[in-house]
Amino acid sequence: MTKTISGIAASDGIAAAKAYLLVQPDLSFEKKMVSDVDGEVAKLKSALEVSDSELSTIRDKAVESLGEEEAQVFDAHKMILADPEFTGAVEQKIKDDSVSAEQALDEVSKQFITLFESMVDNPYMQERAADVRDVSKRVMSHLLGVTLPNPALIDEEVIIVAEDLTPSDTAQLNKKYVKGFVTDIGGRTAHSAIMARSLEIPAIVGTNVVTKEVIEGQSVIIDGNDGDFILDPSDADLVKYNKMAADFAAQKAEWEKLKNEETRTADGKQFDIAANIGTPKDLDGVLANGAEGIGLYRTEFLYMDSAELPDEDSQFEAYKTVLEGMNGKPVVVRTMDIGGDKHLPYMPLPDEMNPFLGYRAIRISLDKQDIFRTQLRALLRASVYGSLRIMFPMIATIQEFNDAKAIFEEEKKNLIAEGTKVSDNIQVGMMIEIPAAAILADQFAKVVDFFSIGTNDLIQYTMAADRGNEHVSYLYQPYNPSILRLVKNVIEASHKEGKWTGMCGEAAGDPIMVPLLLGMGLDEFSMSATSVLKVRSLMKKLDTTKLVDLVDQAVNVSLTNDDNEKLVTDYMNKI
Ligand code: PEP
Ligand code: MG
Repeated sequence: MTKTISGIAASDGIAAAKAYLLVQPDLSFEKKMVSDVDGEVAKLKSALEVSDSELSTIRDKAVESLGEEEAQVFDAHKMILADPEFTGAVEQKIKDDSVSAEQALDEVSKQFITLFESMVDNPYMQERAADVRDVSKRVMSHLLGVTLPNPALIDEEVIIVAEDLTPSDTAQLNKKYVKGFVTDIGGRTAHSAIMARSLEIPAIVGTNVVTKEVIEGQSVIIDGNDGDFILDPSDADLVKYNKMAADFAAQKAEWEKLKNEETRTADGKQFDIAANIGTPKDLDGVLANGAEGIGLYRTEFLYMDSAELPDEDSQFEAYKTVLEGMNGKPVVVRTMDIGGDKHLPYMPLPDEMNPFLGYRAIRISLDKQDIFRTQLRALLRASVYGSLRIMFPMIATIQEFNDAKAIFEEEKKNLIAEGTKVSDNIQVGMMIEIPAAAILADQFAKVVDFFSIGTNDLIQYTMAADRGNEHVSYLYQPYNPSILRLVKNVIEASHKEGKWTGMCGEAAGDPIMVPLLLGMGLDEFSMSATSVLKVRSLMKKLDTTKLVDLVDQAVNVSLTNDDNEKLVTDYMNKI
């Protein structure tokens, strides 16, 4: 029977395929003594063998689809399986204590994990703890006869159904087979959703129930435009959604024609539409969509995709590639924004009650200055290959900005003293994503070269609503007058000091926000590359001289997010 599950539309597009459940199976077992010790040892050996050959297959597939480096983790797993200290200890436990293979494996792996995790000053050993956990899960699944999901083995078109996807899960999805994903939890600005947009695959998040409703291999349709997920679609549904997919493709082809055009409004004003990227690999999408620059390079993905802290040279290469690839167009690089929902396996952060309010972003950079200085040096060295702008994330106080800027100046001086060439034209700005900074923008404007408004966080902090929590996703209200007032305040404050303001939060590519932002005089709009042409086409229809009134209404008369959505929709319908 056909059924529709609704969620938050997180990335545009429509696709039909089979469901692939990326859900961890139940690996619990009953503790019991065994009489047939040899039988348990044999069961263990067979589970170890199957696990090993499974890991070889996964490894080969991973090399094919993700590359040698990403596949290395599976070598580490195979090494643990081949390590007699580990497997021998499990076997010995079965023999000594007459316990089941499951129980012996569980107890021995917990001992190893506790030992490795206790070596807090040794990131290498801490990572091994994660490997042991993964390997013992795999062996346990074979002992219990249940199947673990193996996304690296996917070799047909599927739509992933998961409770949640971490940014690194999302980074590993192979676009050739993964046609979309749907999750139980998450909001529109969670990082998995943002990455789905850069991968250009449809996504729905925050359905609450999808993992409970869908069965493996079930035929499904994902409509990422409206947030509908259809289980067991009828023939009529398939026809309807195929038509919608074709219309969407035709619309995209129409936007394509604007690829090499400037962004100009109906009254002839020129604006910059830039793109957000996470890695140099995203450059193709940026160029294919005709962006006029990069408004946000989220460098934390460089750190997350690496097995250890990336050194100065490897960072330099990445920044140089992006600057050269953009061929003189401006590139705004944001310094590392780790914390919140973005973790580094090799740099465990303290467990926190509220990680989004905790030790993250510039707070870490100012504390662990060696990491920060390495990044700034790499950026400074790369600056001669294009038009570089640097910004700091999560600035709350003027002191933080001044401290970060001072370190930048110091490293610049050091490099020049060493005889290294650096550009003398690097703008240094900051993200506005904390209300304290938005309110005090007039003072910040005196010390920065530019602002970039990060609405994803600015909204979460202003509304006190976790951006990844589907239960409070209704509070993601970019058109709420309170948010609009903050945004307007920031833009005006920057202009008074002769500085410019961009926006790199998801709201910059939102068709309801665009007319309001144009009316407020936002200088640069930075968004997922896939939104660039849609927004360019929208801007062509808008006359900025007529938008000032619209902004006035939205900020001074409207009371709610919905009022403003209607205000802009009605306005657009009339022009
Ligand atoms: C933001 O907060 O709006 C932003 C662009 O940064 P991120 O989404 O990476 O937190
Ligand atoms: Mg942010």
